[in-house]
Amino acid sequence: MKNSIDYIIVGFGIAGAILSYKLWKLNKSFIIYDAPAKASASSISSGLINPITGRRFVKSWHFERLLPKLRETYSSIELDLNIKILETKDIHRSLFDVKDENLWDSISLNEPDFCTTDRYDLSKWKEVVSHKKRMGTIKAYRINVQLLIESLKEMYKSCFFSESFEHHKIDIQAAKVEYKGMYAEKVVFCEGHYVKENPFFSDLPMEPVKGEVLYVRIPNFRPESILKDKVYLVPVGNEVFWIGSTYEWENLDNQPTKEKRAYICGVLDKLLNVEYEILDHKAGVRPSTKERQPIVSIHPKHSQLVAFNGLGTKGASLAPYFADQLIELIS
Ligand SMILES: Cc1cc2nc3c(=O)[nH]c(=O)nc-3n(C[C@H](O)[C@H](O)[C@H](O)COP(=O)(O)OP(=O)(O)OC[C@H]3O[C@@H](n4cnc5c(N)ncnc54)[C@H](O)[C@@H]3O)c2cc1C
Repeated sequence: MKNSIDYIIVGFGIAGAILSYKLWKLNKSFIIYDAPAKASASSISSGLINPITGRRFVKSWHFERLLPKLRETYSSIELDLNIKILETKDIHRSLFDVKDENLWDSISLNEPDFCTTDRYDLSKWKEVVSHKKRMGTIKAYRINVQLLIESLKEMYKSCFFSESFEHHKIDIQAAKVEYKGMYAEKVVFCEGHYVKENPFFSDLPMEPVKGEVLYVRIPNFRPESILKDKVYLVPVGNEVFWIGSTYEWENLDNQPTKEKRAYICGVLDKLLNVEYEILDHKAGVRPSTKERQPIVSIHPKHSQLVAFNGLGTKGASLAPYFADQLIELIS
């Protein structure tokens, strides 16, 4: 391996993965550091790309701008790596009361490309859901984040270091950096919520949010679509469902808790009229920001250091568009 490259990428969640792919397409050279001991949010993301979100059913921020970019990026990865990661998915959303129904009727009238009211009748979910509430259907997307990251990691294995990047070992020189004998024009930090440990970017306006998920099996039940009640029920294959998630602004570690497990089970017990088996329970921390917007930032004193962060609850939608913005900024 040569000892002079364009970039060092630190962190290989969806931010680092998408950025590296785009740099690879531009024939840029790089090495990647990713710390196995620092569990990523990406490893438990369900990869939903949901155009209509929140209790008030609002259109996701800049969705029209993000959609073409994410489609183009994920389709290109599918072709280059010969994998299938992007799929369209209906989300059937419980409407809890008349206020919800009225809001839904209004948004589905204004956003016919993303919402319909008449598809739930076709859904298999009716077989297992106890309640008889109305449902709204959102035309959404889902990517397989874990397959995407593992496949890119495999492709980059000759330039991938499964170890923690040690910030204090960077030697910042005029117009480049040196790290463990390697010279690079820039280091791009894609560290998710661990950026608080980065002495160069510890003051980014982060407001991380912990989330917990259960993986459950519902025997003999294989719907195509997703259900959203108080939690999402996302089929991930073989009768297994990703169920989540929760939101917690304190105790920001990767440890699953009894309280959140009880909460999710409580929702499932009320919602489903069939048995389910819990297979796993996981937690992670979303790299959210105070302004709820992504961060693409050059260090004010050292232009060789760059941060790509703040993907919050929407890494799958935001990473493709904002990786391009970052590349434009640093090229
Ligand atoms: C429960 C849950 C459900 C979610 N569901 C969705 C969803 O459906 N759709 C969606 O779009 N988003 C979802 N998200 C949000 C999504 O996971 C994040 O937006 C996204 O994963 C953030 O990606 P990232 O690459 O910025 O950070 P991360 O995925 O956290 O990756 C950061 C990486 O940096 C590495 N790292 C950190 N410091 C160092 C260091 N010093 N040296 C080397 N490596 C380092 C870590 O090991 C890690 O691999 C969910 C999140 C959670 C927690």
